[in-house]
Order: sequence, then C-alpha cells, then structure tokens
Amino acid sequence: MKYNSTRSNSTVVSASQAISQGISAEGGLFVPQELPKYSLNEIQNLAKLDYKGRAKKILADFLSDFTESEISESVDAAYADEKFGGSNPAPITCLKNDRNNAYILELWHGPTSAFKDMALQILPHLLTKSMHKVHDGKEAVILVATSGDTGKAALEGFKDVDGTRIMVFYPVNGVSPMQKRQMTTQKGENVNVFAIEGNFDDAQTGVKWIFTNDEIKAKLADNNMLFSSANSINWGRLLPQIVYYFSAYCELLNAGKISAGDKVNITVPTGNFGNILAAFYAMNMGLPVKRFICASNANNVLTDFLATGTYNRNREFYTTMSPSMDILISSNLERLLYHLTGGDDATISSWMKSLSETGIYTVDDSVKEKLGELFYGGYCDDKGTQETIKMVYDREHYLCDTHTAVAVNVYDQYVEKTGDRDTPTIIASTASPYKFAKNVLGAITPEAVTEDEFATVMKLSEISGTDVPKPLAELKDAEVRFSTTCAADEMKDVVLVALNIR
Ligand SMILES: *Cc1c(COP(=O)(O)O)cnc(C)c1O
Repeated sequence: MKYNSTRSNSTVVSASQAISQGISAEGGLFVPQELPKYSLNEIQNLAKLDYKGRAKKILADFLSDFTESEISESVDAAYADEKFGGSNPAPITCLKNDRNNAYILELWHGPTSAFKDMALQILPHLLTKSMHKVHDGKEAVILVATSGDTGKAALEGFKDVDGTRIMVFYPVNGVSPMQKRQMTTQKGENVNVFAIEGNFDDAQTGVKWIFTNDEIKAKLADNNMLFSSANSINWGRLLPQIVYYFSAYCELLNAGKISAGDKVNITVPTGNFGNILAAFYAMNMGLPVKRFICASNANNVLTDFLATGTYNRNREFYTTMSPSMDILISSNLERLLYHLTGGDDATISSWMKSLSETGIYTVDDSVKEKLGELFYGGYCDDKGTQETIKMVYDREHYLCDTHTAVAVNVYDQYVEKTGDRDTPTIIASTASPYKFAKNVLGAITPEAVTEDEFATVMKLSEISGTDVPKPLAELKDAEVRFSTTCAADEMKDVVLVALNIR
C-alpha cells in the first residue's frame, strides 16, 4: 500500500517512509491511497481474535512493507498485558440508566492513563523499524507539541529507545498539574521537556515550522539525524487508533449487544481530530457506522465548521478543564477533507493556504453536504462538563474525566435534538479521571477539593471507591528533572542546543 500527501498526489511514499518522515515536504499529511475493505464476515472473524490479533490483522493490511514478524513483535510489545492491565487494552463499560444504548470505550488503561498510549506505545516500534528500512543508521529526533497527554505518552513510549531522541513542548499554563508533573519528572536519557510561553497552537506551529525549515534539516542531516513526528499528524499514530473501533464493535458483537451489520454511532471528544478520523477510516473500511458525533469544549471551532462549512480560527482561545481539546487548528481535519473531495490535492492546498494566511476557509457545497450526513457537531463549556460528571456519577456511580464528560454531554444533546435514542453508541473515553482529579472531585464533592493535588487524588479514590492508577500514584515522590520555560520563537534554538549541534 502506498501513501499520497494531502497537498500533492504526485508525492507517493511507502508506509515506512510516511511513518519515518511524519509530514510531507510541502506540508501535507500522508494518507493511504486506498483502504482495505472488510466484509461483515471478516469483521465476525476479527471478533474471534483478541485485541492483539485484531491489531495484527489491521496493521498488516496497511503496512505492506513490514514483515509479518515485525508487525507481530510491535503489537505484542506495545499491548503487553502488564502495560494495559489485562489482555484487552480497550474495554467497554455500559452506561445503564436512561442510556441503555451507550457504551463507554475506555482507552486509558495504558502507562500514562490517557488514550494517547493506544498509539504511542506502538509508534516507537513502528518508527524504529521504518527508520531501519528507509534511513538506516540515522537517529530519529522526535519533536512533540502537546496539549498535555501526547507529551507524556510520547515520552513514555520513546524513553531510552535506541536510535531516538525526543523533545516535548507544552504550553506553560495549558496543562493540568498532574499532566505537568508527569512530564517534568520523566525518566530516560534521550528525553527533553520544555514549557513554552504560549498555547498549544503556538507550540504546534513552532514544531511544524522547525520540521519544514531547510536550514535546520540540513544541520540535522550533517549530524546523521532526521526529524520525525509523534503528533497525530503522523500516520503511525492514526493507524493504531483504527483498531480499537473495530475492536469495540467486536466486543459488542461478542456480548450480544448488537448483531453483525447493526450500525453504531461513535462519539469522540475531539481536539486535533485524530481520534475521530480513525473512526472515519474504520467506517470506510467496512465498520457499520450511522453517525460520528464530534464533541468539543468551549473551543468550538469544529462545531461551527460542521454547522456552516466555514472553518474560522480567528476567535478567542479558552483554557478549559479539558485541556487536551484546547485547540483551534485541528490538523487532521485536512485528511478528512482530502477524502471527502475525492483526493483533490489542489483544493486542499488552497484551503490550507487560506487557513495559514487568513485563519479562514470555506468548503464547497458538496463537501458541506457530506459532512452534514456523516457528522454531528456539538460542544459544552466547563459548567456543562462538571454537571455531566456529577450526573453520570450520581446516576451510574461511574467516574468520567473532563474530556469524556464533554463527549457524554454532547451525545445527550444529540439524542435530544435528533431523537435517535436507539442506535447503539460508542463513546470514546480518553483519560482516567485521576489525571484531572481536581475538576472531577470538584464536580462531585466540591468541598473535598484541596490545593494539594495528591491529597485531592486520594480523596477522589476514597469517595468513589476506585483505585488510583499506579503510575499516577508514584508521581507523588518523583524527582522533577525539567523546569525550563522558553518563548515560542526560541524553540528552534532550544532544539539545536539540546541536540548539541548549534
Ligand atoms: C488528545 C486528547 C483528546 C483529543 O484527541 P484528538 O485525537 O486530538 O482529537 C481528547 N481527550 C484526551 C484526554 C486527549 O488526551
């Protein structure tokens, strides 16, 4: 299988090139030229496998320049039972009251308690194998812009992986105390972590600029290094996420909750549009999907886009209690639009040019119509988020984190507005409530919240009767290793200094 760039169909690369390079030279994102298609029969066969088996089958269909044993090794190492608390890294919980058709797909049982682990535990394996095939002997320099969860998950995935270095930039005031602590205490010899004065978009823009800067790239090449990306613009991030949507469907089949061929809705708390895009790929591969419900927080640029066909990032940026969704430029939307325009690279280039120059673009009517058929967009603010956490806890005794709560809230809005109560719905749950303990406890028992993060975590555990994930509990006594803050326009220098190639 070959890959094109969303901005250039004449760019044709292999899977390992797409993964090792991260982003195409002209700034486009790599997309598969065609998708494998699974019949209902094949989906039923997937249902007979465990998660690792499902992952191996799906990955093999996309990574045609990998051997079977390379894929097998990668999957087995990434989703080892001890890393994800059991043989199914993505279990489903049913919400019973009032929503007898809503299923929470818990994607946060990995080492950093966020769904990013689902992709970032396997990406280092795919990337080092890709580097070996394409750029033998070169060191991969991974630059990451993070709104909180990607940074830690990437650090944890890449720490001490031979032939890689990783540098993470996070917005100084844009991540939760637990997220910050997770990153600043990161262990490993090949890791670096920096706070930047700015928001996530500033960090992402800075990283993209460094990636595509010829002078810096030449400097790296002279030193036998090569940039790569662990952000969700990397195909190696998206691909593993397709697996859990198929797996969730299989789990519902196996549990007798649905029959083969039944359509499901998929609700995703959305930021950079990677997670929901993986669901869109799954549908195009044969997964029976009725509607994608795209949930945003107060940074509701996607809600407006889905309603109007105009993407407008010129708006106030809000720092919310669901920080991993505090994004105004949803990079992966570019891939969706590429597919919805039938691969029209010229049109995508012009829209993206307009986005970078004016902050706005408007899609044509045919794309707008397709978006409307497939997607429902909605949002809720912090107040709605906390009300939902409380409601779900009171009714179901289920604790959801702030991001998942946004998804549940918007799903309820969807049901209210469309009357679609009956379609079984998978709601992606993207983080452990303990990553956002203050806001979660604040929603259910505000008087119990204290300034001390770990006291709050313990209180949440005591009140809810659920366990604190071990890696989070251990942070309490971990040593802080990284405390540098830099300006957004210093990122380039910081990178060169850290690599010692200034
Ligand atoms: C990254 C993240 C999201 C957003 O996912 P995208 O793929 O960027 O849309 C939502 N919730 C949590 C907890 C995250 O870490």
